[in-house]
Amino acid sequence: MLIGCSGQTTDQIAAGDNPLLTPYGTEFNVPPFDRLEPAHFEPAFVEAMARQKAEVEAIASNTEAPTFENTIAALDRSGGLLRDVDLIFGGLTGAATSPELQAVNQAVQPQLAAHSDEMRLNDDVFQRIKAVYDTRDQRELTAEQRYLLENMYRERVRSGALLDEPQQARLRAINQELSQLRVQFGDNLLAETNGFELVITDEADLAGLPGSVVAAAAKAATDRDHEGAWVFTTHKPSMLPFLTYAQNRDLRGRLYAAYTLRGNNGNEHQNTGIMAQVIDLRLERANLLGYETYADYELERRMSGTPERVYDLLDRLWAAALPVAQNERAEMQAIIDAEGGGFQLASHDWWYYAEKLRLQKYQLDDNELRPYFQIDQVRDGVFWVANQLYGFTFEPLTGLPTPHAEAEVFEVLEADGSHCGVIYMDYHPRASKRGGAWCGSYARQNRAEGHETDPIVNLVCNFTRPSGDTPALLSLDEVETLFHEFGHALDNLCSDVTHRTLFRSADFSELPSQIMEHWALEPAVLKHYAHHYETGEPIPDALIAKITGSKHFNQGFATVEYLAASLLDMKLHTLTDTEGLDVMALEQEYLDSIGLIPEIYSRYRCSYFGHIMGGYAAGYYGYIWCGVLDNDAFEAFKETSLFDKATARRFRDRVLARNGTAGFMEMYTDFRGREPEIEPLLRKRGLM
Ligand SMILES: [Zn+2]
Repeated sequence: MLIGCSGQTTDQIAAGDNPLLTPYGTEFNVPPFDRLEPAHFEPAFVEAMARQKAEVEAIASNTEAPTFENTIAALDRSGGLLRDVDLIFGGLTGAATSPELQAVNQAVQPQLAAHSDEMRLNDDVFQRIKAVYDTRDQRELTAEQRYLLENMYRERVRSGALLDEPQQARLRAINQELSQLRVQFGDNLLAETNGFELVITDEADLAGLPGSVVAAAAKAATDRDHEGAWVFTTHKPSMLPFLTYAQNRDLRGRLYAAYTLRGNNGNEHQNTGIMAQVIDLRLERANLLGYETYADYELERRMSGTPERVYDLLDRLWAAALPVAQNERAEMQAIIDAEGGGFQLASHDWWYYAEKLRLQKYQLDDNELRPYFQIDQVRDGVFWVANQLYGFTFEPLTGLPTPHAEAEVFEVLEADGSHCGVIYMDYHPRASKRGGAWCGSYARQNRAEGHETDPIVNLVCNFTRPSGDTPALLSLDEVETLFHEFGHALDNLCSDVTHRTLFRSADFSELPSQIMEHWALEPAVLKHYAHHYETGEPIPDALIAKITGSKHFNQGFATVEYLAASLLDMKLHTLTDTEGLDVMALEQEYLDSIGLIPEIYSRYRCSYFGHIMGGYAAGYYGYIWCGVLDNDAFEAFKETSLFDKATARRFRDRVLARNGTAGFMEMYTDFRGREPEIEPLLRKRGLM
């Protein structure tokens, strides 16, 4: 039994008393955060699932012939309450959680998973969808309706709806096995990552490390019962500073070797066999569903569409980036030689000599920049960019319930003063918030019920807090992150769709966010918002030049390291024969064959490539695919002007307004007048 803060128990909350089950009665219909208790959620979920079940059963048992309206639109409308409750619950568990909410989460997640399977696998419903789908050419459908129908049908087919019973049973068994292997892989990786420690007892071995890094290592030692020593681990926040600053080359080598051997040490946490099994099962699943390879299956619903198109992009980028990385290697070797090092640069030397090179070339110090990035000014800078592009204005709202006392809330108004939506912004870390930065929703724009539902957006970060009298001063990374997340917010605020169900894609969804990062660092925009928090002076040109110049730094390495992992992911998922697969041998042979230099490892090796165990299988390429899009799309502004109204209007109408309801390439070419080109990305990274 769940006890909420008010002491009410689940049983005692009648629907009429549950703010999630009654009209909110708030301004702009924002969630009634001030009246919500953890104990309200489980009964609301139970009620919402029951309502969706009834709605779906009504669709399945409808005696009228299937139509778009009585089947597709009805399915799209079903589960409305469940979505609302889930959005609020997700927002709160992410940014304002509590032991009570976590307990609710554990209780409801299995119920939600079972419910969603039950809804998706209803064969009567599928037969009705299929009947509408098979006759789609004879029906008068809008472009959005047709897209929804085709994707709804395809998602069910991809889950096995057209297979016979034994095949479906095999598919379920494969899915089951895959999910167990995924958990095992993750558990092994965690054990391997936690299992290694570099214990330093001689202070001389700390030479070169900044004081803050030494202090963190001393604390890690205390935590691990190595009192008086210093400990470094293969967790990146511990490892990367050591690789970057530690003068002791042998120790750098030991630490990096431990990192690259995780999951491949021949002990009980060996991951290579698990990876091979996963690749094998995925191929079987793809074959069962009629695809030649797993990548064909996965990419069908992505913007890229086919493995060939992904390879085409990755190969071209590889050819451009590899010589730049080789050149960076030569520059670092020159430093080693000038210092009389007498050795060849090795993989574990890269960070150390790259840092020396960076200081030589740019002398960019984060602490020099921060005073120009006071958080309220950066926020106003983002608002200003949105105003210049789309005419939006932002009015602070007071008296509206917020998900947490630290969250700010604004009304977003269109250029003509009409209401567009609401945005919550919540900047700083705290114990009740998970790490990272993200942009979610408390309500998504749609007209599924015949009236307009306006978006309520929720932007959450973990940025530097104010300290003492000093306001929150952001790092350059944090500034770019705020612009990035705000791009996701604009994507939601500009949405102009009828139906609720969206089909978005990971290799397209970062276009709206990544394009905003470009404005963040444009000199004209920096001059507008980056003013010294004490003197009010705009950021000097010399600092802007350093920011711009340093953007090309080490991009050969970063691009090659990333591309190697992307290509490896594609290689594994385009295999057509997985008999006796040895993933480490394949990795070595394949990356050698495409010319990867020995000083660079793939960013992830097969034994610790966690991304492709989860949602990024045949999808790790998506980051740079979106990089091509955002750079090419931003060029459309550079070709006209930074805030060209017509270009902004086109981007809004043809991309942001439709995202999730139209083909990805169609949206892009409607905006750009042609398919994307890779040259802008290459220029941005200094690769051409
Ligand atoms: Zn993003």
